[in-house]
Amino acid sequence: MSRKKLSEKCGIVGIYHPSHSVASSTFFSLFSLQHRGQESAGIASSDEKNFFIYKNTGLINQVFDDKIIGDLRGNIAIGHTRYSTTGRNNLDNTQPFKASGQNGEIFLGHNGNIINSEDLIDLLSSWGISSFDTTSDSELLTLLYANAPGRSWSERSEFVMSKTKGAYSLVILTQNSLIAVRDPLGIRPLVLGKYREGYVIASETCALDHIGASFIREIDPGETLEIKNNKLNSSSIRRKSNKVALCSFEHIYLSRPDSILDGKLTYSVRMKMGETLAIEHPVAADLVIGIPDSAIASAEGYANKSKIPFVQGIVKNRYVGRTFISPDQKLRDLGVKIKFNTLNSIIKDKKVVIVDDSIVRGTTTPEVIRMIKDAGALEVHMRVASPPVISTCHFGVDTGSSYELIAANRRIFEIKRLIGADSLEYLSIDGLKESIDYQENYCIGCFTKEYPIPVQMEMDKLKLESIQKRENA
Ligand code: AMP
Repeated sequence: MSRKKLSEKCGIVGIYHPSHSVASSTFFSLFSLQHRGQESAGIASSDEKNFFIYKNTGLINQVFDDKIIGDLRGNIAIGHTRYSTTGRNNLDNTQPFKASGQNGEIFLGHNGNIINSEDLIDLLSSWGISSFDTTSDSELLTLLYANAPGRSWSERSEFVMSKTKGAYSLVILTQNSLIAVRDPLGIRPLVLGKYREGYVIASETCALDHIGASFIREIDPGETLEIKNNKLNSSSIRRKSNKVALCSFEHIYLSRPDSILDGKLTYSVRMKMGETLAIEHPVAADLVIGIPDSAIASAEGYANKSKIPFVQGIVKNRYVGRTFISPDQKLRDLGVKIKFNTLNSIIKDKKVVIVDDSIVRGTTTPEVIRMIKDAGALEVHMRVASPPVISTCHFGVDTGSSYELIAANRRIFEIKRLIGADSLEYLSIDGLKESIDYQENYCIGCFTKEYPIPVQMEMDKLKLESIQKRENA
């Protein structure tokens, strides 16, 4: 059975309070992670006797209302917001997932991507579990946790971790506890905070700030943290090496600028990327414009260092959610015009530097450059605050397959021509490393093809070769 990547770039939250209802705080916390997934959302709760769950497709505030939140009773809850580009029946793949087994009934929310799903399916089959409701790797994890051997959640989690390869930050709800798990490489972020008399777990620190919780620490790579009877019980898997590999794309694009990752404010890291980019690739121009929202900090950094004024230049309609855009051809043709508008009188007759955080498939950039040119810019110089994305992400970022990546098999001058820029330059790998303070502790595989664990590259290679053959034919 082929499993599509359905657990990409998601946001997860878990709240434990010794006595008070937590659904409403879980909602607000999840709401601040909307940028990590706009397809569907769900919350599962427990009052330590019964479980309650509600999930649906749509943006978080479309999915939940006061009545639904009120019905999610109990002092423990987990929430999930999902981002995915695949999967027909969205509702089936909406999380948290539920499973029952020898360890009782559990609910699970997953951020990341598993790379050895076939091994996990074989293991589950050996336990007599061979029918699945979804095509998601997260369902496999849910079934594994519900059935794993071990006397405690710590032992069960150690077992699951020993069988699972890939990226997984998890929140698990049992009848009377909240469990947080982070894979041994710590690829996706996960933090612990103090929430009133209890605790909160979340993908990013911004989800703590919005509910008045305070940051305690990150969940360690390889850690399982159980919160029960308002006590923390932490255990860690024995690891062969101390290697960790936080996804560098979290700093580049995925996380919110106000989130602190690996001790660094994302906004400041992005500024530094922009400054480094300006040192590496200066250009004579009148204005610097950042593509909203993720490239604004890097554009400010570029402007500060180059002493070229930063202007807004492009305005984004913040209310364009992917879910609202129907797959109607007329709308598709409008492309980024639905999302962005230009400040024409600011741009007209100017030489403009456009900064974006990344070019992945190369869909956004040519359209933005065309818009800027249509607004009357004399020259458009594209500066990208990350290196060329040359290889697919196997660990949960939707970069598409390698053959879809514009930089996978093209040189920079060819990309420049394709996107219609007057010049194009990217941040170097060394510039990225300097900006994120790289100490061998990040995954930069999408820029280098060197991943923290071996990945199966053959499929992508074959596809790439067949595309190249077709292009050359
Ligand atoms: P593309 O249009 O495919 O080249 O994607 C690059 C643009 O999408 C940039 O403007 C990024 O801000 C944004 N972006 C980067 N990574 C992702 C991602 N994983 N999912 C959605 N958008 C992304």
